[in-house]
Amino acid sequence: MSETSRQPREAAPAPRRPSVGVRIGKVTVGGGAPVVVQSMTNTDTEDPASTARQIAELARAGSELVRITVNTPAAAAAVPRIAERLAMMGVEVPIVGDFHYNGHQLLESEPACAEALAKYRINPGNVGFGKKKDGQFAAIIEKAIQFGKPVRIGANWGSLDQAMVATLMDENARRAEPWDAAHVAREALIRSALDSAARAEEIGLPRDRIILSCKVSGVQELIAVYRDLAGRCDYALHLGLTEAGMGSKGITASSAALAVLLQEGIGDTIRISLTPEPGQSRTAEVVVAQELLQTMGLRAFTPLVTACPGCGRTTSTFFQELAKTVQEHVRAKMPEWRVKYDGVENLTLAVMGCVVNGPGESKHANIGISLPGNGEAPSAPVFIDGEKAVTLRGDNIASEFVGILDDYVSRKYASRAG
Ligand code: SF4
Repeated sequence: MSETSRQPREAAPAPRRPSVGVRIGKVTVGGGAPVVVQSMTNTDTEDPASTARQIAELARAGSELVRITVNTPAAAAAVPRIAERLAMMGVEVPIVGDFHYNGHQLLESEPACAEALAKYRINPGNVGFGKKKDGQFAAIIEKAIQFGKPVRIGANWGSLDQAMVATLMDENARRAEPWDAAHVAREALIRSALDSAARAEEIGLPRDRIILSCKVSGVQELIAVYRDLAGRCDYALHLGLTEAGMGSKGITASSAALAVLLQEGIGDTIRISLTPEPGQSRTAEVVVAQELLQTMGLRAFTPLVTACPGCGRTTSTFFQELAKTVQEHVRAKMPEWRVKYDGVENLTLAVMGCVVNGPGESKHANIGISLPGNGEAPSAPVFIDGEKAVTLRGDNIASEFVGILDDYVSRKYASRAG
């Protein structure tokens, strides 16, 4: 039987959790703004050409913030050159600098880097160690204040603040009913983020320039951590399952965790931390993030194709190829359509494999096609806004259907073009 990704109209997620809005360049995270999609490069930041190229690729795919590693003096020196290259390419996406261990030094020695970045990300577990930690944390926050930048305080399971863990273990040992180890670790992660945010505010960073994250790599742990964190503060929250993995495992794990939280109104910006398959574009993580938000009905980015899974009634792969062709065509066209046709992202499409559910599902889409299954007449009725418009036959069904789609978009959304 067929499947559809569309939700019944009356179903909706819980209201968004109230949070303080944070401006990052032209983008707002939290404060009721739509959930923002972000991503991260995997190029060597010391190479401005390849890093600018990948940032542009991610931005064109729909990433609204792009994070880069800033790990060495040469990487910090490259940041303003990356920003210049992006400006020359006409790419305006805010760039976030990811700092570990030496952020205080890099921001001090490369003021042009501090200025070019739109936001700094620091991990309270990796800011510094021992007696140096507080001073190095303060130095980074003071740079953010000096340059008017927001900061994400991003705690991470893999680099927990060990002093915090030790304190909480001691506290736990004195409890009449001690928590289990996982509960202590969750609390350490949350307290690390909240205490760091409180310290940043004491130093003078305004509340509307702080975003928090507490990333872990387990689905149930992530849900538990963010439910708890969301109830204890009103900072804007960055959601992501860290080290989600590769391919379908990474997509499934990230979607499972983030969908539960987004459904509960938790989360102001998301990143899908996919390990790319060899040869796969880095933009896959942006596509997954967009499709997660869109299939949940939280945002619309690009028309999505509803397609049946196929079964014994369709032994040919033609309808699978057509569904892929249509989805790829739409994605390729979106940079142009987004500019010319306001609202085109809400267009719905259906590519169905046989007469069982084909006409019904096709009628529910703006444009749908029902291909012939085994033993059916070799004709493919096309439905436009619920009405049968034409029947396609022969060897050119794919190109004719794409032509119908392009024509529909230019007619339906033409009046809104500006
Ligand atoms: S081919 Fe027909 S019966 Fe099979 S999944 Fe698609 S619509 Fe359903």
